[in-house]
Amino acid sequence: MLSNILEYSLSEFENEIVALGEKKFRAKQIYSWIIKGVDDFGEMKNLPKVLVETLNENFVIDLPRQVEVQISETDGTRKYLFELTDQNRIEAVFMKYKYGNTVCVSSQAGCKMGCKFCASTLNGLSRNLTPGEILGQIIAAEKESQEKINHVVVMGIGEPFDNYENVSKFLKLLNDKDGLNIGMRNITISTCGIIPVIDRFGDDFPQVNLAVSLHAATDVNRTEIMPINNKYPIKELLSACRRYVNKTHRRITFEYTLVDGKNDSREDAAALAKLLKGLLCHVNLIPLNPVAETGLRKARRENINAFLRELEKRGIQATVRRELGDEIDAACGQLRLRK
Ligand code: SAH
Repeated sequence: MLSNILEYSLSEFENEIVALGEKKFRAKQIYSWIIKGVDDFGEMKNLPKVLVETLNENFVIDLPRQVEVQISETDGTRKYLFELTDQNRIEAVFMKYKYGNTVCVSSQAGCKMGCKFCASTLNGLSRNLTPGEILGQIIAAEKESQEKINHVVVMGIGEPFDNYENVSKFLKLLNDKDGLNIGMRNITISTCGIIPVIDRFGDDFPQVNLAVSLHAATDVNRTEIMPINNKYPIKELLSACRRYVNKTHRRITFEYTLVDGKNDSREDAAALAKLLKGLLCHVNLIPLNPVAETGLRKARRENINAFLRELEKRGIQATVRRELGDEIDAACGQLRLRK
């Protein structure tokens, strides 16, 4: 089988090139074409013909194949449905923010975490994505949008801390100065709260931003919408978050999806504030993007506002996430589910 160059760091690829009897500097030349989205060795204009043949005999550049792109007329959000070589399908989203262009990538095909409001988990986990398959989503999005990307969030389909080995290699590839060169501080990973991996992550990547999906302030409520809470309940999860902050001195983002009648009362907000008191954090309130199969509804606007005010009153920093790409199937996993 041909190896996918997207899986290699530059130094690994240099070793491969040298092992084939080629000059080391060729690796860097090829790498810089790949970063630009060129996936055909024949189009790499500074390579001799014989080298192109050697490359074709040994390697491929497996960018995910774009099945569909949905473009929002109002805010420029672009949602991609990609197909991998084994026909698994994943999603990525390109978003424009004041501070720059962001791509949200998937880390698994499907998910086994079973959160009740989420479309990505409805058919379970198919498989983990490789580092190159995660990276390829960003290169493909840059190529299609013709825009430079400077922020990456791992908040698409899948639980990144259930695929930590591949995700950590991906982070290194993404950060590589000879690769896409995205700064660690411009990357955010979101987890449903796999405690042992939060500890490892704080050691391995102290500069990468951490977001933790909390979504409820009591174990009863959280277990109802997030089965992972049975294994890693709130008290232990928050201890892990405190360890993380003490170690890295980085602020954690807590994601809290507001579901009508489930977790959106003032009492819920008060309980959340109590839980987070004294922790270096920020709460990101996400109005539920309803997924028909789940029967859950978006919290009402007045409840969202009251929730936010209650947190602020109690000294907890919070914002309501801007709802980008509302008219396209932007809740993660929805596009994949429809096709
Ligand atoms: N597995 C990771 C990344 C998943 S998606 C995690 O759990 O954090 C990123 C965020 O979107 C998570 O907070 C997730 O709970 C939330 N989310 C998923 N489906 C949603 C929906 N339909 N509406 C609003 N938020 C949703």
